[in-house]
Amino acid sequence: MALSCKQVVELVTDYLEGALDEATAADVRAHLALCDGCETYLQQMRHTAAALGEIDVETLPDPVQEELLAAFRAYRPGQ
Ligand SMILES: [Zn+2]
Repeated sequence: MALSCKQVVELVTDYLEGALDEATAADVRAHLALCDGCETYLQQMRHTAAALGEIDVETLPDPVQEELLAAFRAYRPGQ
């Protein structure tokens, strides 16, 4: 099963908390290995979670999630 970027964004907090089942976590890892945008997003989430203590992206309003998605899709490391 291939995850979309939006699905990865929705799963990433659970992924960071270790709350996903192993099959889903493996799908997230597989996506992150291939998708620089989501890898960057994950790293940002780690920093933010460390700074704030906790964060739950699922509580963000959809426009904010869409904004984040647009931001990291536009991000091109090393260019
Ligand atoms: Zn992605």
